[in-house]
Amino acid sequence: MILVNILAIGAHPDDIEVFCAGTLLKYKQQGHNIFIALTTSGNIGSNEYASREEIALARENEQLEAAKIMGAQVKFLRFDDQGLQDTPETRRAVINAIRWANPDVILANYPEDPSTDHAVTGKIVSEVMLSIPGKLIPADEPPIAKNPSLFYYGTPVGIGFLPEVYVDITDVYELKKEALTKHTSQFNWMDVYQTHGLLDILEITDKFRGLQAGFIYAEGYRAFRLHGYMPNFKLLP
Ligand SMILES: [Zn+2]
Repeated sequence: MILVNILAIGAHPDDIEVFCAGTLLKYKQQGHNIFIALTTSGNIGSNEYASREEIALARENEQLEAAKIMGAQVKFLRFDDQGLQDTPETRRAVINAIRWANPDVILANYPEDPSTDHAVTGKIVSEVMLSIPGKLIPADEPPIAKNPSLFYYGTPVGIGFLPEVYVDITDVYELKKEALTKHTSQFNWMDVYQTHGLLDILEITDKFRGLQAGFIYAEGYRAFRLHGYMPNFKLLP
């Protein structure tokens, strides 16, 4: 088996665990190399800390704990939560992250996600794909020669997202839950405004995607398509 590099890009700590950790755990089982990059450290996502810096520190630590379960290396890009913009600076950071991971597969937020940080992250990733090989593109990491396949993972509670391909995560679902529970700050925070607990949401959405795909639990994806960057579905686990 040829080992490949997998990069999951998210807007916030916990995006990866909610939307695509099952797929990463499947890749891990197969021995592939896992990388995670986050555009923000979720630095407004709690009312239990005194400052944005303290929230970011707590949430980055939670992310590192979760990443251990997936055997993933993590890169924090550290833009402000709830304020992410598509700028030359954010593009440069995302290009750096992609080149750092040298990925064969990228999993990222969906550009039409109703959450702004998610949508902006997904849009930046999509729009820098053609910048990955260019040596004159403003970036700090050297160009890479690969043409990664980009797959978008789902949106919060599945709103506005119809998958075109599914990954059966049934045998890693318990580990996925364990990874999500590392984001301890988010359980209180989400309860401030959501009717369902975080693990309930995971159970319902992953089971619903499983129902659509003929599995018990599943994660769904849509593929990015651009000349030279057509999706290789065979690279999904
Ligand atoms: Zn998020």
